[in-house]
Amino acid sequence: MKKFFYFIVLFFFVFPFFYSLLCTAQTLNEIRNLRAGKHQNFYRVVLETSMKVDTKIELKTLPYRAIIQFPESLWRASNIPRKGNFYPNIPIIYSFKNDEIGKTNLTLNIEKPFSLDKVYWLSSPNGNKRLVIDLYFSSETDFIVTKKSFESFSKEEFETVLGERPISEDKELELFIGQNKNNSKISQQNIISEDNNFNFDKAGNKNFLVVIDPGHGGKDPGAIGYSKTLEKDINLIASKILQSKLNNVSGIKAYLTRSDDIYINLHDRYKIANQLKADIFISLHSDASESKSVRGYSIFSLNKDPDLENANFQKNNKNQNVLGNVILDEEIIETQNILYKMYQRRKRNYSIKLKNLILDELSSLPSNSRGWHEKNFAVLKSPVIPSVLIEMGFISNKEDEKNLNDREFISNLMQKIAVAVTKYKDVYMK
Ligand SMILES: [Zn+2]
Repeated sequence: MKKFFYFIVLFFFVFPFFYSLLCTAQTLNEIRNLRAGKHQNFYRVVLETSMKVDTKIELKTLPYRAIIQFPESLWRASNIPRKGNFYPNIPIIYSFKNDEIGKTNLTLNIEKPFSLDKVYWLSSPNGNKRLVIDLYFSSETDFIVTKKSFESFSKEEFETVLGERPISEDKELELFIGQNKNNSKISQQNIISEDNNFNFDKAGNKNFLVVIDPGHGGKDPGAIGYSKTLEKDINLIASKILQSKLNNVSGIKAYLTRSDDIYINLHDRYKIANQLKADIFISLHSDASESKSVRGYSIFSLNKDPDLENANFQKNNKNQNVLGNVILDEEIIETQNILYKMYQRRKRNYSIKLKNLILDELSSLPSNSRGWHEKNFAVLKSPVIPSVLIEMGFISNKEDEKNLNDREFISNLMQKIAVAVTKYKDVYMK
């Protein structure tokens, strides 16, 4: 009887366990090579595997790192340690770990905020598959938004982004192979000196950048008030007050798209913000209506605009479309679409967070709130920068016009907006 019991245990519990191990052992992915390359403005990590596997990428802080997750895989990269770095040429420490049952993680510690430019699978001439990860140093903001967008990726979106692409640019790169971890002290210095060679964005600038856009100007007066006040003048005065209030906050730097009575077209306004790599964009306007009794402030953000054809891309000097730091001309159309949607989604999320904070602050004003609306305003069309447009009141209304011409009223209004912007910076940009 006892023997029978053992047999039952063996048959139903122990055998299946070994059997399943046997089965999976035959199909386990193998990691066969790991190397990194350095390009003028990005780093590339290439992982060679025996097969293309489901991949998930997570970004984490403290330290800044990317965790690339696959089904259980075997380390078969001879001559390359499981934990190592690419110092002194590339400031990346990596570690390969079989964590939980059935999961393998490759962690890349970058030590600075970074963004993932491209991630894709390629076939290698030697029959292996290659997972290519291109990354570049970026701002804290960029890191956070990239992290968030990866979190909200669906499996299909991941698959499209990870779709095979018929390109190979490895030849242009200087390649380095992983080595042991012990020379990381020298490397710290190298990170710093290397960083100085990189002239891409925000070098050394840790400020939170706000671009304030005083609506209209020059030949375009905007709305005309009840007592003939010009909207462009009110917008400019308010913007200058907001700018000086924000510049008094430590860690914030505010710029204006115009500081005089000049005309700037709508696309150039957000392009200025793109050029400056602004963290947020705020356009200030004053409303008008046929009906003189309409009054109050309102706030606008761009309505859902996932249409690639209508995207107002920034162009680089080679006339290629640029999205954030991604040059879209190199991407296949599906990837372009996914990237564009990803950027639009993250931009929309952050625009909404910003408008919520602004509306919260403004709610303590005696003015009438007309709330939030989504509209297809050209000036809000930066593909990457969270953007809002505030209509401060109706100059076609007698009382609102009087208020908007009152320095104290405007100053109080701008103070509230400055508080909201500071809160936004403190909450979302850490
Ligand atoms: Zn206007």
